[in-house]
Amino acid sequence: MSTPLEGLDGDGVTMTDTAFLENISSIYKKMSHAAMRAGRNPEDIKLIAVTKTVSIERVKQAVDAGLRIFGESRVQEAQKKVMSNELRAMSESLSWHLIGHLQKNKAKAAVELFDLIHSVDSVELAEAINKYAEKLGKTQEILIQVKLSMETAKHGILKDNLISLLDGIKKMEHLEVKGLMTIPPYFDEPGMARPYFKETRRLRDEAEMNGFKLPELSMGMTNDFEVAIEEGATMVRIGTAIFGDRT
Ligand SMILES: *Cc1c(COP(=O)(O)O)cnc(C)c1O
Repeated sequence: MSTPLEGLDGDGVTMTDTAFLENISSIYKKMSHAAMRAGRNPEDIKLIAVTKTVSIERVKQAVDAGLRIFGESRVQEAQKKVMSNELRAMSESLSWHLIGHLQKNKAKAAVELFDLIHSVDSVELAEAINKYAEKLGKTQEILIQVKLSMETAKHGILKDNLISLLDGIKKMEHLEVKGLMTIPPYFDEPGMARPYFKETRRLRDEAEMNGFKLPELSMGMTNDFEVAIEEGATMVRIGTAIFGDRT
């Protein structure tokens, strides 16, 4: 199938097919090891391949390599990929997640496209999503994005407001909150992100004590996913380690 010869992809970026497959298998290995270090079952952690700025052709290769869940930051870019000739045919077997900020005026398209929206951070946005989910006869699964650091994260709800947001969403019949998502600041030393992951899990546990069911924790990217898994991540969002540096 793959050859060790260098090939050009759609963006003109060279990466060998074997290097690509090795990236993926190395990530799975690291995910398993991190899970086992924490006494967790590796099967409880999903890999979300982040395909923002990645060409359709490379996404197709990722599908051929066995990946099924894809994360996009922008609605329009996701639309192009989901509707493309190359990927449309296999749409039944693929799952698309929105990991970037969502504007209310794009809520309709987001509900049409995504199985999970990771970035809900206000009652207003939740209402907009709920409205279109109702129109489409869909129950939209969402995560609440929490902001733990004022300096770096632009979006997300402050932790003190989490319970009241969850309370507000409880009344929206076409939304199902599955858990929390967070983006810690970038650190060269991944261990520095650990307190942010711990705090997100603590917030989840606290909300569960208040009667909410939040099984999913979306946290961890290329630089820090192993630490995130040690701290309870059930979804890691990885782009660079799979596809190489974004151009
Ligand atoms: C881009 C992005 C990722 C992936 O980042 P990498 O460092 O390339 O793995 C994950 N989550 C979000 C929200 C992103 O925007």
